[in-house]
Amino acid sequence: MAETSETLLLLAPLRGVLLPLAAVPDPVFAEGLFGEGVAIDPLGDTLVAPCDGVVLHLAATGHALTLQAPCGAQVLLHVGIDTVSLRGDGFTPCVAQGTAVRQGDPLIRFDADRVARQARSLVTVMAVANGNAFAVADRTDAGLAEAGRTVVLQVRVAGAVGAAPAATPAPQADVADVTHAAATRRRTVTLACAGGLHARPAARARAAMQGLDATVTLHYGGRQASLASLVALLALSADEGATVELAASGRDADAALDAVARELQRTDAGEAHAVFPVGAAPVAPGGELPPGCIAGVAAAPGLAIGPLHWWRDTAPDPDQAGQGVDAERAALRAALVAVDAQLAHDSAAAEARRAPAEAGIFAMHRALLEDPALRQAAAALIDAGKSAGFAWREATRAEAATLSAMVDRRAADRAADVLDLGKRVLRALAGSHGAVHAAAGVPLADGAQSVVLAADEFTPSDLTGLDRNRVAALVMVRGGPTAHAAIMARQLGIPCLVALGGALEQWPDGTPVIADGDNARLYADPDADLLAAAASTVALRAQQRQADLRAAHTAACTRDGVRIEVAANIGSVDDARHAVAQGADAVGLLRTELLFLHGAAAPTVGDHTARCQAIADALDGRSAIVRTLDIGADKDAAWLRLPPEDNPALGLRGVRLAQACPQLLDDQLRGLLAVRAQARLRILLPMVSEVGELLHWRTRIRALAAEAGADAGIEVGVMIEVPAAALLAEQLAAHADFFSIGTNDLTQYTLAMDRCQPALAARMDALHPAVLRLIAATTEGAARHGRWVGVCGALAGDALAVPVLLGLGVTELSVDAGLVPATKARVRTLSHADCRQRAPELLQLASAAAVREACRRYWPA
Ligand code: PEP
Ligand code: MG
Repeated sequence: MAETSETLLLLAPLRGVLLPLAAVPDPVFAEGLFGEGVAIDPLGDTLVAPCDGVVLHLAATGHALTLQAPCGAQVLLHVGIDTVSLRGDGFTPCVAQGTAVRQGDPLIRFDADRVARQARSLVTVMAVANGNAFAVADRTDAGLAEAGRTVVLQVRVAGAVGAAPAATPAPQADVADVTHAAATRRRTVTLACAGGLHARPAARARAAMQGLDATVTLHYGGRQASLASLVALLALSADEGATVELAASGRDADAALDAVARELQRTDAGEAHAVFPVGAAPVAPGGELPPGCIAGVAAAPGLAIGPLHWWRDTAPDPDQAGQGVDAERAALRAALVAVDAQLAHDSAAAEARRAPAEAGIFAMHRALLEDPALRQAAAALIDAGKSAGFAWREATRAEAATLSAMVDRRAADRAADVLDLGKRVLRALAGSHGAVHAAAGVPLADGAQSVVLAADEFTPSDLTGLDRNRVAALVMVRGGPTAHAAIMARQLGIPCLVALGGALEQWPDGTPVIADGDNARLYADPDADLLAAAASTVALRAQQRQADLRAAHTAACTRDGVRIEVAANIGSVDDARHAVAQGADAVGLLRTELLFLHGAAAPTVGDHTARCQAIADALDGRSAIVRTLDIGADKDAAWLRLPPEDNPALGLRGVRLAQACPQLLDDQLRGLLAVRAQARLRILLPMVSEVGELLHWRTRIRALAAEAGADAGIEVGVMIEVPAAALLAEQLAAHADFFSIGTNDLTQYTLAMDRCQPALAARMDALHPAVLRLIAATTEGAARHGRWVGVCGALAGDALAVPVLLGLGVTELSVDAGLVPATKARVRTLSHADCRQRAPELLQLASAAAVREACRRYWPA
């Protein structure tokens, strides 16, 4: 069988005896439901790549994967029958999803004896998954095959549209295990997510079933959509409270139904906008706006003054005609891969900044990018002779038009997301990052005054990398407060007005404006009085910030002379530099897991030393509290392949992880003990709930320090973030050098409210008297052994809470670096004696609201 430009030769992925598919002891493979192919009864234990390609999908259980060849053919490789039920036992993948491999590269190693003992059969299947586009022209299905040497299948383009990535089936369909594939399970679900089935719940539902061997469709109003297609899901316009039917097939159909139903029944969708009351401003009394004023919709608060500057979209204009179907398909495929990588990077960067809403936007864009409806539409145009750029632009415009036409405002806001993907891919095809950086580098008038940046509608990629110092506010002709650009503006802290209408288009570049994000008004050419009032408010706020920053480089003492250390929480070297610039006395919490969440493999001893050394060097003589890896719950590391948990926040997270992977913490401790810092480094253990855990790791740290000739007396502290730890503070304090209270988790576990559940955000108040009692128990327990107590949860940066914490005996506050100046300023306004006297009263109150009310009275912020 000779390979030509139209044929693909697939080599045997395993050493073994070749069999026809019909001989596979499972009807679904045997009847070719997963495509045409061949089976092998293995004599070897390493599955190798039958051709060059990219790993399109790897089952979480490591027993199967789909490889996409450069021509677009998708090759399903499935080791054994019913092996999904082994949940990874006996399988060691050598690649990850997205890995590019060469023919013959190892893909999966497996322990043949172990798998054979537990599974129905070891017979392994290789099949062409996108049979609508590729056909098996020739095959060898008898005799002995050598892995990576014997040609067993010859595959030919069938000439269908789907040969391009357009035909990408839902990844979960690639490796659906055979046993239950034919049976369809159904379930009725009532949508609880606020706003109905909009993009993020849809994306999360889709993500929840990834890795499961199942396909799911959602039926509503006589129509249906595959979970693989976000656009199709949105097009159903299923509202909050709607009853939808889920239909699942495949080996993991039940698990997929559970996972999808759970997401759809979550009461909220992670909407950052819920935090800010968005909406149209009331029109001025008398129904009239002053001349030169437009009313819009407030999307992010704040006041800004500056010249208007129009942001001109620089997305390239592609040629209509293509240069040949193969070339255009290849170009589109490469651009999609590049954009996916960019989005993965943007999402990871947002996560590292602890900006989950922003990270979610880019994760959702990645899901949209895979949308089969979009890809099929583009592929059809390419097949009709159009260029990749033209095809992609038209496909995204058509989808955006469908979404815009929807009555549901949130679905309509998603049109901007689809158009954004259109732009990103066009830029990738043109080999430029265009707008992303042009937005940051907006030209400024002389005097470097920052501008009020205007656009018809910004999209998230326009705002990636936006320079906060050059843009005072964002204003849009269209757009909505739930648009993702609006969410990003809120996260960036930039005032933002949307839906200002066509009147804005009449205002030219350079028009002096006031953007009032608090009252949803935009004023052009404001008169002297208005300008003076706005300028004075802006100036006062800026002056206060500047004064706080100037004073931040000296220690903060209360009015009666008690020194309070104000430190910073950091997660990177950049954060460390920022902390120094903002006047942090020290680092009170280095979240080391953020340094490694997105690596390809577990960090080595050397990785730990290098990253931590760089941070210690950047701190310019300041001490740091280094928390050991706190992976788990909402912080998932792709390289840590642990079985999924039903309640991850209550599972193997923080120091408990060492129970499952002791090497992980050992490597980190060895790495940390090798750091040579100018100032003291302390170790902090997260999620401790028993004294035994502390004793175990103290002993281990001493042993590792002795082994490395390092300081055996390095201080070891405990995070108090589980109620059990607060209640056992005295016992823990006998063996700990210090405590740091993680009020984020302490509140979640005390109030039994998921910290990632926005619907509960308003009630998740760490000033709840129950949480305050646990803080008091912690400081009392610590005092019995002369230990100091800090707070590194978000409560430390809440101006109203600072006097309460001081009053309960906390002596260190560790806050986001940007809050250091204001926190120091707040400490300086307080009398420590007064805080000590009044704080205990607050423990007797009945609610967080009552505590806040009392704080406002006693210590107005
Ligand atoms: C906390 O729980 O308060 C804390 C500081 O840790 P993290 O937010 O990283 O869980
Ligand atoms: Mg925590």
